[in-house]
Amino acid sequence: MKKRSQLIVPVFIPHEGCPYRCAFCNQSKISGTQSKSDQEIVRNAIKEYLGALERNSLPDVREVAFYGGSFTGLEIERQKYLFDAVRPWIDSGHIHLIRVSTHSLLVNERNISFLKDNHVRIVELGIQSTNNRVLDAVGRPCGMETVKEAVNSIRKNGLGLGLQLMPGLPEDEESIFMQSVKDVIELEPDFVRIYPTLVIKNTQLYKMYEDGKYTPWSLDRMVGLVKEAMNEFKNANIPVIRVGLHADPSMLANLVAGPYHPSFRYLVDSLIARDKMTALIDRLETIPDNITFKVPSREVSLYLGHKKDNIRNLKNKFGIEKIVIDHTANQEELQLVA
Ligand code: SF4
Repeated sequence: MKKRSQLIVPVFIPHEGCPYRCAFCNQSKISGTQSKSDQEIVRNAIKEYLGALERNSLPDVREVAFYGGSFTGLEIERQKYLFDAVRPWIDSGHIHLIRVSTHSLLVNERNISFLKDNHVRIVELGIQSTNNRVLDAVGRPCGMETVKEAVNSIRKNGLGLGLQLMPGLPEDEESIFMQSVKDVIELEPDFVRIYPTLVIKNTQLYKMYEDGKYTPWSLDRMVGLVKEAMNEFKNANIPVIRVGLHADPSMLANLVAGPYHPSFRYLVDSLIARDKMTALIDRLETIPDNITFKVPSREVSLYLGHKKDNIRNLKNKFGIEKIVIDHTANQEELQLVA
C-alpha cells in the first residue's frame, strides 16, 4: 500500500500556555522563536509552505502544527485566535487538520473536545519518562495516572495521539528508560518521538551540569539505548517519527553538551543494520575469510555504517578478512552469501 504523503507547517509558540519549568526546557532557545506567534506569522508560514509546492504536487495530507508550548494551557481566546488564522485554509481545503502539543496535566475532556471542534486531529503529549524519580529530578511531577487520563480524553474524542520521550535525564538509566518505553507502548500511541537529553543554555539542567550534578550521556551510550527502544517500538508496530532534535541554528548556538549528532537517527539505524548482519554471521557454523551481504540498494549506507564502522566492527569481531556490500541484485531483504 502506498504511504500517504504529508505536509506539516510548523508554527512555534515557545513556552506559551505552560506554567511549568522543566529543568531541561528552554523552548525559545530550542525553536529559535522568541516572540508570540500572531496571526500574521501563522498566515505567512502557511503561505510559504504551500507556495513552495506545485499545485499538482500537493501532499495528500496537509496540516498546521503548533509546537513548543502547552496548547491547552493557553487562554481560550488565544487558542481561538490561532485557530482563526488557519481557518481560511481549512475552509478552502488547502489545509486538512491541525495538530498541537501539550502537557498531560493541562488536558481534560472539555478542552480536548474544544480542540476537536476546531479541526485539531492530533495531540502530542510530552511524557519524557514514566519514572517518578526521573520526573521529580527535572521538576516535572506528572505520574502515569495523569498521563492515562489525558490519553483517555484524547482517545474518547477520536483524536490521534503522539507521545514524546527523553532518554538520559537526571536519574535515568537504561533499565529505567526501557520501562518508560514499555509503559508508552501500553498506551498504544499512533506514533512516538524520541529526544535524547541535551544541555541547553539558560536551563536548570545547564546549572546542574555546571555544578557537576548532571553528567550528559555519551553519544555511544545514547545511540545504543535508542536502538533498543526503536526495536521495542517496531515490535509493537508503533512508528518512531522523529529521533533527535532538528539541527536548528538557535538550538545549536545554545547547545552546551550532550549526545547530539546531526544524523542521530542514521547512527541508530546503522547500528540496527549491524545487529542484523551480526545475527546472520552468528548462524554460520564456520566463519569464512570473505563474506558478501546482498542489501537493498537504498540501504547501502546503513549497512556500511558511519565511516564504514559496521564493516570494521564485524571484521574485528569475527576475524573476517573481507566483507562486501552488494546492492546490485535488487535485493529487498538482507542476505548473507558466504
Ligand atoms: S511542560 Fe513543556 S513547555 Fe513547559 S517547561 Fe516542560 S517541556 Fe517546557
